[in-house]
Amino acid sequence: MIDLVVGIDLGTTNSEIAAYVGDRVRLLGSGTKMLPSCVGFSPTGELLVGQAARNQQILYPERTVRSVKRRMGMQEAVPLGDKTFTPQEISALILRELVQWARSEFGQPVEKAVITVPAYFSDAQRTATREAGMLAGLEVVRILNEPTAASLAYGFGDASRHTAMIYDLGGGTFDVSVVTAEGEVTEVLASHGNNHLGGDDFDDLLLERLEQEFERLYGIDLRHGHAAAHARLWWAAEEAKKKLSFEPYVRVREENLVIQNGKALHLDLELSRTEYEEMILRLVESTLDSVSKTLSDAGKGASDLDAILLVGGSTRTPLISRLLRERSGIEPRQDVHPDLCVALGAGVLASRLAGHEVERVLVDISPYSFGPSHLGDRGGVLYPHCYRPIIHRNTPLPITRTESYWTAASYQKVVHVEIYQGEDEDALKNILVGDFRVEGLQPTEEPNEVLCRMSLDVDGILHVTATEKQTGKSKHITVANALQTKTAAEIEAARQRLKMLYSRRAQSFDDSFETREGQVASAPDLRAEVEGESVASASPPSEILLRRAGMEAVSDARRLIDRSRRLLEKMHPDDKEEAIGLHESIETAIDAGDPATLEKAIKDLGELLFFVEGQ
Ligand code: AMP
Repeated sequence: MIDLVVGIDLGTTNSEIAAYVGDRVRLLGSGTKMLPSCVGFSPTGELLVGQAARNQQILYPERTVRSVKRRMGMQEAVPLGDKTFTPQEISALILRELVQWARSEFGQPVEKAVITVPAYFSDAQRTATREAGMLAGLEVVRILNEPTAASLAYGFGDASRHTAMIYDLGGGTFDVSVVTAEGEVTEVLASHGNNHLGGDDFDDLLLERLEQEFERLYGIDLRHGHAAAHARLWWAAEEAKKKLSFEPYVRVREENLVIQNGKALHLDLELSRTEYEEMILRLVESTLDSVSKTLSDAGKGASDLDAILLVGGSTRTPLISRLLRERSGIEPRQDVHPDLCVALGAGVLASRLAGHEVERVLVDISPYSFGPSHLGDRGGVLYPHCYRPIIHRNTPLPITRTESYWTAASYQKVVHVEIYQGEDEDALKNILVGDFRVEGLQPTEEPNEVLCRMSLDVDGILHVTATEKQTGKSKHITVANALQTKTAAEIEAARQRLKMLYSRRAQSFDDSFETREGQVASAPDLRAEVEGESVASASPPSEILLRRAGMEAVSDARRLIDRSRRLLEKMHPDDKEEAIGLHESIETAIDAGDPATLEKAIKDLGELLFFVEGQ
């Protein structure tokens, strides 16, 4: 007889519930399947749990409780309206709501649960979590550490031994742990964190920026006496933050925020990801300090890690994976949805305890990377077929991502966009899946910005749109079956098509193109529909898109030097000498416009700091 056991992530910001349904572990509930960990009473005295409570939180803070997880294990009363509750009671209300979701799914009562807690939770906090479960009518069969749950979701509970780092940044808390997993046993070797750092702090920084802009325009400080406008901008800030994870720009447009002397005042502001990253950099850097400390406490180096797993909604912020990759040399994994990963891992253990054979969580991911080719630096020379994916392999589907590119020549009126599938930095060693031209661009002397947006869904349909940012002029193609395995004949057809595109350079193309094993699985879909005219036979350099990697590198380099200067005093004299030498190399490379040397010096300094910070 198979029991019904559910896995629950009782989170600081959101909570989720998972169980074995059909043939796999799945999240229960509708919509996003995330329940905001908020409880409140409406002005009419109605109990609100989840989204409804969160909606009123900024307007009625005294009637709403959030982040109760931070108070678990404390002997303090939590005021809510005209009543008081224990932290366990508030948590029990959240658990009860989740259990209700499960009950609707299964049509039967749910009695047993695995509940996750942070690795650093004390006995008192664990006991309080158990009590919350009991108050919600549950038998808590296991209290499971969150990093262990994440490693179970990724299938690290099999026979071989794995060492993984779990970087978990949620709404209000940050934790990083190094774990080893072998069979049923997972050990947390070291853990660090900050109980008061998370995506909410990113929201606050963006909110400050929006309110400053409003004050600059109209001289009104929305933080005082304008609760409704303040609440609207708070929502707008979080929405803008989420969008900036996928788009290079976001437009915040809030109309009628305040009526002054009968006149409606609006806010209309564009924010760039670069500006946003500058705002949050200091906070993200502080998490990387904890990463180094955790590694050093665990007695491990980055090279001992089999994986870095990203957990928590805020790890969708691209700056985080980029900095982790740069500092550790490891591509962090996000193939299980970061905000659902802990609940799914709890679901894996719950399913096993219920008697199901479950190895790991199954999610739809893209097995390949996709992106356009561009002009960029390769080994110190400009190369027109550089490739950096916009959609990375192993990303959960569906996915939409946009990246910025620039026209390569002054007064350029046309861009020819070639979309590839593959992993090689040389586009010609990947597989061309579609190409198109955008014509009639504004002929500007300065580089003109072109946004390339790619969306891939679970059915393998890839949409690509290139848009001139200044005018909104755009062109779109759809590639069907982008994920389908192709035959050798189709791959040969792809090869011929690419050859035709580069007929003027056929010789060099023949030399450079080789289909590699492992990249052969998919070829261009020859039915790619190109809106408008037919494809040009060759793409002269003046139609190429430029990726401004050089400019990104300069700002990265300056930040890195600042960080390094702050650490100089703490460095061993040899390291200090090396760091100062690298500062000079970086400055010289920037002055000389030498991207290859710049990139190498950035890499070397990044690695040096990673180790210095770990000491
Ligand atoms: P969690 O506690 O794991 O549910 O994470 C919640 C936090 O993740 C909140 O601060 C959200 O605003 C944040 N978050 C959710 N989606 C995104 C996103 N796409 N980009 C950045 N942060 C996000």
